[in-house]
Amino acid sequence: MNKALKNVRRKVLVVEDERINREILGNILQGGYEVVFAEDGQRAVDILRADYDTISLILLDLMMPVMSGEEVLKICRADDNLSDIPIIVMTQDEDAEVSIIRAGADDFIKKPYNMPEVILARCERIIDLYEKKRLIDSAEIDLLTGLYSNEFFFEYIKQMEKYSDSKMDAVAMDIEHFHLVNEIYGRAEGDRILKRIASMIMAELSDSYGIACRSAADTFYIYNQSLLDYEKLAEKILKDIEAVTFENAKIRLRIGINRDVDRNDLPEQWFDHAKLACDELRGDYTRQIAFYDSAAHDKQLYHERLIRDIDTSIANKDFTVFFQPKYGIEGDEPELRSAEALIRWNHPELGMISPGDFIPLFEDNGLVQKLDRFVWEEAASQIAKWKDKFGFAVPVSVNVSRIDIFDPDLEDRLLGLLDKYGLTTNELLLEITESAYSDSAKRLIEVVNNLRDKGFKIEMDDFGSGYSSLNMLTTIPIDVLKMDMKFVRNMLNDDKSLKLCELVMDISRFLDVPVVAEGVEEKAQLDKLKDMGCQIIQGYYFSKPLPADQFEELLAK
Ligand code: C2E
Ligand code: MG
Ligand code: MG
Repeated sequence: MNKALKNVRRKVLVVEDERINREILGNILQGGYEVVFAEDGQRAVDILRADYDTISLILLDLMMPVMSGEEVLKICRADDNLSDIPIIVMTQDEDAEVSIIRAGADDFIKKPYNMPEVILARCERIIDLYEKKRLIDSAEIDLLTGLYSNEFFFEYIKQMEKYSDSKMDAVAMDIEHFHLVNEIYGRAEGDRILKRIASMIMAELSDSYGIACRSAADTFYIYNQSLLDYEKLAEKILKDIEAVTFENAKIRLRIGINRDVDRNDLPEQWFDHAKLACDELRGDYTRQIAFYDSAAHDKQLYHERLIRDIDTSIANKDFTVFFQPKYGIEGDEPELRSAEALIRWNHPELGMISPGDFIPLFEDNGLVQKLDRFVWEEAASQIAKWKDKFGFAVPVSVNVSRIDIFDPDLEDRLLGLLDKYGLTTNELLLEITESAYSDSAKRLIEVVNNLRDKGFKIEMDDFGSGYSSLNMLTTIPIDVLKMDMKFVRNMLNDDKSLKLCELVMDISRFLDVPVVAEGVEEKAQLDKLKDMGCQIIQGYYFSKPLPADQFEELLAK
């Protein structure tokens, strides 16, 4: 017996025209059940119609006046309210068994009633069976919409998967601001809309290989063969709802589609992804449908991971600073002049991550400031150590991101570092990328002017990659031009790049500032640049960026 209901007394309807039989059955059942009696079929039907939801079992005699047992059986089986009440037929006629069961009875008891234990056991078993079945039915179906419940939906998908490997879509459909519909128009209206949507989905699926469920209040999941025209379905639903609802309720559907699901993932993930696409549409009134894109999703997850880990990684020193030497090439022998500080992230689980993967991300959300402060501090302390050890300072450039420019404390922060480590503005240099100049020229020129007034040297990084106008260049305060790497990379096999290198050299002469050529990997590039008058080289030809101790070995030489 169903455990939760163990202590509830079930009600049994005994339908029997002979008083003596009613009394015998009454005596047998009364210990465990509440018993109601009907002395003919019509009376039984009346009681059932009034009380169907409290009666757990019918014991039915066949031969009765007014209305026969068979007739009652027929009526019960044809009536939605009565069809799931179990019926045990009582008969003298052993041969009638089969036809009785065929007519819809669940079991039979033989007259006369001389085995009370058997009768009780049969009653109990049938009631239990029916209750279990009802429990399963109710868990399978969402009572409001008649669609599957969430849990059974996934159960059925797993069943379907056993028999089919055709292309399937996972679809999540959501109503924008549905809670407002409930609040403004009442829950009943909200329910009506949900039912309407559910029945349209069901109709749409009726002749395709698909199923649907209501996964949450206003979210529907559809799993079906990649056939449906979702745009059309949405249109249809909206039109239908408009027709049956109050005038001003503008319902908006969002549909996220995970097309041709990846069977390496779990069904739950298919729908997580569909829902993700669906949620992307929140507040976007230009689109109604979004497709899940796994590459974009992976990238998003990766970025979220990096953002989540930045603080712990700073605290655990997973970030370190490397130093790449810059060489003066004007004399006969190249000479180590200075270095650029470049951040490295040795993530405990993801391994080495290139700055190209995280700097742009952290520039977008402002987190790059944290990293820059870390790098500046590390670089300053390292310069001071070397100064101590070798008796001379190697100037080190640090990158200043476009975000830092808007930090009102930038100047104080940098001056504070010089103070803390006993450095001068000739020892800690600043690189600012050219594109920052074109982003916010006015503010940047102001900030850079102030920094230069304090003595800082500014190198314009990646020069040639941005869109500085010649006019702007003449007004811009800079001390060094760092030629964008891609000119150097292509200078030997692409005439245009070579010409651009020459142009950068001309501009530098015009501005009267030295040029640093980055990305020099080959002797031929170096020679060419030297011919053009380039004074400083940074590149793998001399050295990759190095950890502090390896850079120190270079210094010692
Ligand atoms: P960048 O400031 O232009 O730095 C030069 C980049 O070129 C470095 O890449 C360096 O390793 C690379 N490089 C130098 N010589 C060669 C060469 O011969 N061949 C090739 N293929 N590459 C060379 P890295 O360290 O991967 O940094 C990339 C960019 O990330 C940097 O470009 C800079 O914009 C940014 N970045 C790095 N560290 C920091 C930092 O601490 N703060 C900020 N805001 N940005 C940083
Ligand atoms: Mg740089
Ligand atoms: Mg650069």
